[in-house]
Amino acid sequence: MRLLILGGTSEARELAARLVDDADITSSLAGRVAEPRLPVGNVRIGGFGGVPGLRKALVEYDAVVDATHPFALGMSANAAAACALDGVPLLRLERPGWHPDPAWHYVDSHEEAAHAAAGLGARPFITVGRRELPRLLPALDAYPVLTRVVDTPEMTVPDNWEVVRSRGPYSLRGELALMQRHRCDVLVTKDSGGTYTWPKMEAASLLGVEVVIIRRAAGPEGVPTVNLVDAAVAWVMKHA
Ligand code: NAP
Repeated sequence: MRLLILGGTSEARELAARLVDDADITSSLAGRVAEPRLPVGNVRIGGFGGVPGLRKALVEYDAVVDATHPFALGMSANAAAACALDGVPLLRLERPGWHPDPAWHYVDSHEEAAHAAAGLGARPFITVGRRELPRLLPALDAYPVLTRVVDTPEMTVPDNWEVVRSRGPYSLRGELALMQRHRCDVLVTKDSGGTYTWPKMEAASLLGVEVVIIRRAAGPEGVPTVNLVDAAVAWVMKHA
């Protein structure tokens, strides 16, 4: 079984580790992060070149698991289209979103999140990834924003914004200390789900920090989807 795992997540790395002795695994990373955590097995890095490029690459694989991040919608759409056109079995492995807290403010876009945060607090803490920051800038450029990113943002960051660079997983203790030190009063996040970044949600709740959370958009229709790595392993074994 020659399996392509579309990765960039902890679940994708876990899946590669679970299958590396039973299948010929290649994990694909977008190449966005300067020093990515590499999965075991073969790794390829960089975009495929849209659906046509992915279709060309698919001749080398028997099946695909799309284990990309819940907000990596472009890659998921391309995988669904290319696999459907070429009859390649495709599974979506997607971690569930966080269990909603009635106190959270759900929004549908990054722009809406910025406007909501501006109305809720004076010192926003933004954790949506560096590539989405420009979408929050217009509503928050006058605010003393604290933003946390893995790599330095490409955009010019306003002088009154503070950037901290780090990569999860995070601890509750660390998140409490960070939010208290910077006196953050509103947290902006995507509904990423999972455990790596959950402590900031706990810290916000304990500190009475407002939470603005960006909802997930629906992924491509008709792609079988599982939430757990165990279920993805079982699917691969069934197709092997
Ligand atoms: P995206 O918007 O869905 O993807 C845009 C383009 O990047 C895709 O069309 C594809 O280029 C390339 N790409 C994305 N994921 C790829 C992969 N695993 N392997 C090869 N090419 C890939 O994705 P994104 O939101 O920028 O995310 C990029 C990567 O970071 C993903 O692998 C994702 O799992 C990971 N990640 C994303 C987030 C997030 O919040 N979005 C958070 C954590 C990790 P071509 O069209 O040229 O093939």
